Amino acid sequence: MSDERKNAKHKAAMEKQKTKVDANIEAADQERGVAILLTGNGKGKSSSAFGMVMRALGYGHKVGVVQFIKGQQLSGEEIYLKEHCPQVSFYQMGTGFTWDTQDREADIKAAKDTWAVALPMLGDPSYDLVVLDELTYMLAYNYLPEDEVIAALRDRPREQSVVVTGRGGGSALQEIMDTVSEVKEIKHAFTAGIKARKGVDY
Ligand code: ATP
Ligand code: MG
Repeated sequence: MSDERKNAKHKAAMEKQKTKVDANIEAADQERGVAILLTGNGKGKSSSAFGMVMRALGYGHKVGVVQFIKGQQLSGEEIYLKEHCPQVSFYQMGTGFTWDTQDREADIKAAKDTWAVALPMLGDPSYDLVVLDELTYMLAYNYLPEDEVIAALRDRPREQSVVVTGRGGGSALQEIMDTVSEVKEIKHAFTAGIKARKGVDY
């Protein structure tokens, strides 16, 4: 194919694409916060959530972050937010991974105490963005009542966006979220014996 033909073909394809995108932009006429679920087995769920935290902070938005599992391991996001972003409400469950503690009753109590921090955020319109990191496991283990969690996510203030991360989560949760993305694992460094990396994995 000649370059001229290739260029003409490309132009036609781009025009078609633009018409489609323009129509979608035109059709999106609702102005409100979005509920996002980042799930799947691959790496990138929590990091994506913290990418949105950074975006929101860029506009001076009010942000709340509640982490439902990673208790004992310090993370770069925790250090940074605590040291440099006092305007971000940051809370962590604090009991560590469940397979470390192996104490179901203690886990349920920790889950409920942590949910008691998240719930008021979901009812407070001054929060522009609320991140509920690893919340799905609390539902998967039945540590928190699914109905209550779903109602709180659904009935949150209209302008508030919420990001939930974690594998699984169930169909009822997927149903009420506006955006659901699955991070698919193609490969992970860990399986090749590479240790979790500071600043990349935690
Ligand atoms: P990240 O926080 O890096 O975005 P994530 O939130 O998608 O990861 P989690 O299941 O919360 O994934 O896992 C947190 C930690 O486990 C990170 O150190 C991450 O690199 C690692 N991890 C994520 N996916 C995998 C995987 N498929 N195999 C091994 N380790 C993984
Ligand atoms: Mg995660």
